[in-house]
Amino acid sequence: MAWGKKGLERALQWLQVHELQVGTIVTDRHLEIQKWIRENLPNTVHYYDVWHVAKGLKKKIVESSKLKDCAELVKWCKSLTNHMYWVAASTPDGNGEVMWAKWKSVQNHIHNVHTGHNTLFPTCAHNTLEGNEEKKKWLKAGSKASEKMSDMILSKQMKKDIPKLSPLFQTSQIEAFHSTINHFAPKMVSFSYHGMYCRLMMAAIHYNENASRSQATTRDGDLQYKISFPTFKQGDYSVRKVTVEPAYEYTSTLMKETLKSATATMHEPIACLPSVKPPPLCSAFMHPEKEEAVCNFKSRFCRKETSV
Ligand SMILES: [Zn+2]
Repeated sequence: MAWGKKGLERALQWLQVHELQVGTIVTDRHLEIQKWIRENLPNTVHYYDVWHVAKGLKKKIVESSKLKDCAELVKWCKSLTNHMYWVAASTPDGNGEVMWAKWKSVQNHIHNVHTGHNTLFPTCAHNTLEGNEEKKKWLKAGSKASEKMSDMILSKQMKKDIPKLSPLFQTSQIEAFHSTINHFAPKMVSFSYHGMYCRLMMAAIHYNENASRSQATTRDGDLQYKISFPTFKQGDYSVRKVTVEPAYEYTSTLMKETLKSATATMHEPIACLPSVKPPPLCSAFMHPEKEEAVCNFKSRFCRKETSV
C-alpha cells in the first residue's frame, strides 16, 4: 500500500498548492491510509467505500460457510451486501449512529424478525414479506450458523466500518479510471516520471471524454444489456448496460494544439510538464552493499540446498 499512500500524498499536495480544501474523502479502508488521513487531514471527513467493506465481509461469510453445519451462510452474502449498500444510500447525511442501527437490524431480519430492532431503527424498511420471500430459509436462533453470522454482523470490525460508510459517493468511478490508466500505462512496463505523467494525462483526457457514455440501443431502439459471470461472484451473474463505442475527438484537438505550440514556440521547450522530477520511491529505501547482499543470498541458497 506504500504506493497508494504516496499517490494520496501527492494528490493532496497538488490540491493544497492550488488552495483547494478537502471537505470529504472516500477511500478503501486500509489501516495505513486511515492513519495517514487522521494525522494529516484532521478537518476532513473520511468515509469508506461500501464495495470494499462489503468485499471484506463477503470473504468472511464464504470462509465461515465452509465450517460444519454452516453451509447455508453463503446464501446470505447477496442480501447482506445489498443491505450494506442500502444502509449507506438511505442515510445521506452520513449519520454513523443511524447507519449502525440500520445495519444491526439485519441480525434480526435473518432470523425472520422484522420489528422491535432498536430505538433509532425499530422496524425493517421492506414491505410485508409474501410468497417465496416469506418462505426464505431463515437462520435458526441458537444454531451454530446463526451464532457465526451474528458474530460477523456485530463484529468489532463492522462496528468501526459501518458508521463510516460513504453515503453518497463510492470509489467505483475511480476504479474505472484505474482500468483506463492500465490501458495507457500498463503496469508491467516501467516508464520514466515524465513518460508516466504524459500517459496519465492521456488517460484522464480519454476518461473525461468517455465517462458518461450513453447506453447503446439495438436497431429497433431497445436498450442493450449484457450478462456476465465474474469469477468473484462464484457462479452468480452481473447485468450491465452496454454503452456506445468510445469517442476519440480529443486526438484531433491534441494534434492541433501540438502543431500550434510547435510553430509558436519554435525551438523553445513547452512548459507544460513539471520541471522537477521527484526522486524514485525506492530511493528512500536502505540500499545494501551489492557484494554483501549477493554473499548473503549465496549462503542462504546453500543452507536451503543442504537442508533438503
Ligand atoms: Zn426484515
